[in-house]
Amino acid sequence: MRSYRGRFAPSPTGPLHRGSLAAALASWLDTRAHSGKWLIRIEDIDPPREQRGIAQEHIALLARFGMTSDEPVLYQSTRTSAYQGALQQLLAAGRTYRCDCPRGRRKAQSPDASLAPYPGTCRTRQVRSTAATRLLVPPGVVGFTDRACGWFAQSVEQSVGDFVIQRIDGLWAYQLAVVVDDAFQEVTDVVRGADLLDNTPRQMMLQQALGLPTPRYLHLPLVRDACGRKLSKQTQALAIDVQNLLAELEHAWAHLGFEPTGARGLEAFQRQAISAWRRRWCEREFAEPASLPAQGPA
Ligand code: GLU
Repeated sequence: MRSYRGRFAPSPTGPLHRGSLAAALASWLDTRAHSGKWLIRIEDIDPPREQRGIAQEHIALLARFGMTSDEPVLYQSTRTSAYQGALQQLLAAGRTYRCDCPRGRRKAQSPDASLAPYPGTCRTRQVRSTAATRLLVPPGVVGFTDRACGWFAQSVEQSVGDFVIQRIDGLWAYQLAVVVDDAFQEVTDVVRGADLLDNTPRQMMLQQALGLPTPRYLHLPLVRDACGRKLSKQTQALAIDVQNLLAELEHAWAHLGFEPTGARGLEAFQRQAISAWRRRWCEREFAEPASLPAQGPA
């Protein structure tokens, strides 16, 4: 088995909020529970939506919670040639086409698969020189076993359609960048919010098309506000109170579905949380298979 490598991959579009803290904590705990390496990757591939200095703020705040990257932080803004290489590979394999229809623009801005699938309008059209690039999605179902959600399968063709890998404005789509970098960083385990569960089949399709390995996935229930709405980076009420780091960690811990640890300090919190995490999410993996005979003394 490859040694465990986990990651937290925030987009620097707003301050770290309680939802992202819970996601960071989950991937950090899963990494520590597996004695692995934890990496921070800044997904800064969308400058129009980004705020100056926010990435440094994320990194500094995570450090105050005791979460620091075990390797130098990777910035996706430095990875253009890798994405270009992946695009060339897909192009050479005849897996892409160019698209300049307005619908493509809207869809490319959002990883949300709930929008109607792209009907493949540009598959057979002549397009202008300024165009997005889409992946040609074959029919069939892509499925995987998520550690939290169990078996999840999706027909990418029917739910999403041919999806954008490079936007019309030249920016790289999240789906392509995330796949290239999870492989580049040799990530073995992706732990993230369940809002990305239905993005995973697209990512697996790209992994297969590029000949890259598929990590294991653990998608956790989303943190919601008191009214049941998904947290967003714009919601001021969800800002992290830096005066109360331990209370914020307990809050994130509760959002991950655990009882309070009641720890008095950061280190005690981490110790208790790692062992509770291991019991909930890792016990089965670490347990001896029941059918094996017990090892006697040599
Ligand atoms: N950058 C994405 C976000 O901030 C997360 C990507 C991922 O974990 O795959 O929502």
